[in-house]
Amino acid sequence: SKLLEVKDLHLKIGDAEILKGMEFSLEKGEVFALIGPNGCGKSTLAYTLMGINNYQPQAGEMLFKGQRINDLKINERAQKGITLAWQEPARYQGVTVRDFLALGLKSQGQEVTEAKLKDALNKVAINPYQYLNRFVDKSLSGGERKRIELASLILMQPELIILDEPDSGVDVVALNNIAEMINHFKNSGSGILLITHSEEMLKYADQAALVCEGEIIRQGNPQDISEYFKSFCYPCAKEEDCET
Ligand code: ADP
Ligand code: MG
Ligand code: MG
Repeated sequence: SKLLEVKDLHLKIGDAEILKGMEFSLEKGEVFALIGPNGCGKSTLAYTLMGINNYQPQAGEMLFKGQRINDLKINERAQKGITLAWQEPARYQGVTVRDFLALGLKSQGQEVTEAKLKDALNKVAINPYQYLNRFVDKSLSGGERKRIELASLILMQPELIILDEPDSGVDVVALNNIAEMINHFKNSGSGILLITHSEEMLKYADQAALVCEGEIIRQGNPQDISEYFKSFCYPCAKEEDCET
């Protein structure tokens, strides 16, 4: 059965229609990539799935393991096993890396051990000895905060992971770790919604869909979607608008 089903999802912000009937599904152990140019609604979809304030769809359904989640709060969705790795990870004044990671573990009712924290940081190429006592604030670069957020996902082992542009703002070393991490989650049976605007990331996906102005305009195997994305005359043009 499906891990996540999104059916005819519509979302307006003010008068602007941002999601216009999004529809797709993903299974356990599957990496489903949503690729699309900047501004096409990818992050909006991520917030809507997670249940961020004011991202309440006007129409359509979101089902997690067959259960409708439209009306669940963000923390209720998190407890069910849905997590979001933000495109721009937040800063937390006065919270150390150790506190931050421990909080994630505790939120899942898991025991906190030093070994678990170190192991997760090593997996994202962050040296635990240098970082565990640092603060998750502006003293860390965006890339470092992003990697620490990914480490917290490794610890939480959510069933559904929404990765919003995990490749943006991180270096090549970290990119390799993202690939490893995707495999790690896949092998442990989690489903991954991989949001990206770079076709490089599609090589990690099992299924892919191209998003254009709040709609999926093509879905299929990642290689085909990648070719189609590359051959676009204009990033968000529909096929019939392209000059050949
Ligand atoms: P992507 O993640 O694909 O780059 P976003 O989901 O961030 O796209 O944005 C989709 C569209 O919605 C853009 O046109 C953006 O300007 C608009 N948008 C996003 N957030 C808001 C908001 N809070 N108020 C008004 N428009 C918004
Ligand atoms: Mg964007
Ligand atoms: Mg975005």
